[in-house]
Amino acid sequence: MEKPKTVKILKFHPERCDGGLGCEKACSQVHFKSDEGGDKSAIRIIKDGTTFKMHVCDQRGLCLDMCPVGALERRKNGTVWLDKNICIGCQACVGFCPIGAMRKSDVRIEPFKCISCGACVRACPNNALELVEVKIEDIKEIVYHKQGV
Ligand code: SF4
Ligand code: SF4
Repeated sequence: MEKPKTVKILKFHPERCDGGLGCEKACSQVHFKSDEGGDKSAIRIIKDGTTFKMHVCDQRGLCLDMCPVGALERRKNGTVWLDKNICIGCQACVGFCPIGAMRKSDVRIEPFKCISCGACVRACPNNALELVEVKIEDIKEIVYHKQGV
């Protein structure tokens, strides 16, 4: 299979964000069928003084080769994908991700991450999120905000 050259990643427009967190709730629906957002969301919106920052996977794929059982792959559409049927829940990718965007789940053994599904984009009433297509080779330093730092 020819390797994908592009991928859709999330772009954030902080000036449009009102902190309503509809995006987080939509994302936790996708991953956990829950409206909780927060720790069950792959995207996090963090207050930063008078503005907001987005924290989410940039689909760069630095983790792809480090999974000991090969559960991480780049799909045809370019997104970095965790195969739940292969993952053994070692959490190595959670510790490895340099921007902390692979998230540990408190209800399943396997971690979870953004799959560029666009549910958060559709949920935002202010159009503060957008999915944009980028060349995978150009994703270098799109580091948003490492949680806990
Ligand atoms: S938690 Fe799963 S996907 Fe992540 S490194 Fe371990 S086995 Fe691989
Ligand atoms: S694109 Fe989908 S998986 Fe990614 S943060 Fe938005 S709702 Fe979650």
